[in-house]
Amino acid sequence: MKKQFAIIGLGRFGSSISKELYHMGHEVFAIDIDEKKVNAVKDYATSTYVGNGTDEALLTNIGIRNFDHVIVAIGDDIQASILTTLHVKDFDVPNVWVKAQNDYHHKVLEKIGADRIFHPEKEMGSRIAAYLTSDTVLDYIDLSADYSIIEMLATKKIGGKTLISLDPRKNYSCTIIAIKKQGKVDVTPDPSDPIKVGDILILIGDKRDLRRFREGEL
Ligand code: ATP
Repeated sequence: MKKQFAIIGLGRFGSSISKELYHMGHEVFAIDIDEKKVNAVKDYATSTYVGNGTDEALLTNIGIRNFDHVIVAIGDDIQASILTTLHVKDFDVPNVWVKAQNDYHHKVLEKIGADRIFHPEKEMGSRIAAYLTSDTVLDYIDLSADYSIIEMLATKKIGGKTLISLDPRKNYSCTIIAIKKQGKVDVTPDPSDPIKVGDILILIGDKRDLRRFREGEL
């Protein structure tokens, strides 16, 4: 379903989100204080505006209250990020997502009611660390401090075993939610089908249990 997003701040993070959402077919309204940044996303936004996100009158004029989602991607100027978020929340926008610069910024954003807070650099750092420290981890999403979804490559060691013989829930307290075979995702894998070397297992669980699974089976 087509959604309406407003993105305030078009640095690397805001502009790449604008591009992705626009290509996914959503309506994207892109705003930045810097005209050059606005011009750079013209081809990846439904409409654009040069302006200051902290300016309440501007937010009223562009009808910010009519958006389903507002993404505040102002980086270094933490004060501007907080003030913009505060104004947008005052307009009762249901989903206000904000990029945080550090843990203090995160705390303030939480207090003023940001619905979702991103730390792109930190999140990317954890993902890259996971790839670098393992040959079998292909992708990784943090759900919380303790839980993740992880894609792991089936090695020779697991090849030929079945979900029944592995019993990951009982033996590792984690769940295989899907298996990718030759690029196709099977979300209801037959538990008696042997896993092939090169299949990609998608697991959810506590990070420690996922590591136990990887060390025990891959
Ligand atoms: P990124 O990592 O996304 O490149 P960054 O963390 O380096 O971002 P900045 O470049 O400081 O952050 O800010 C992101 C964008 O926000 C910039 O394009 C900047 O012009 C814009 N911006 C800064 N303050 C405001 C504001 N008050 N209103 C609107 N846009 C703003």
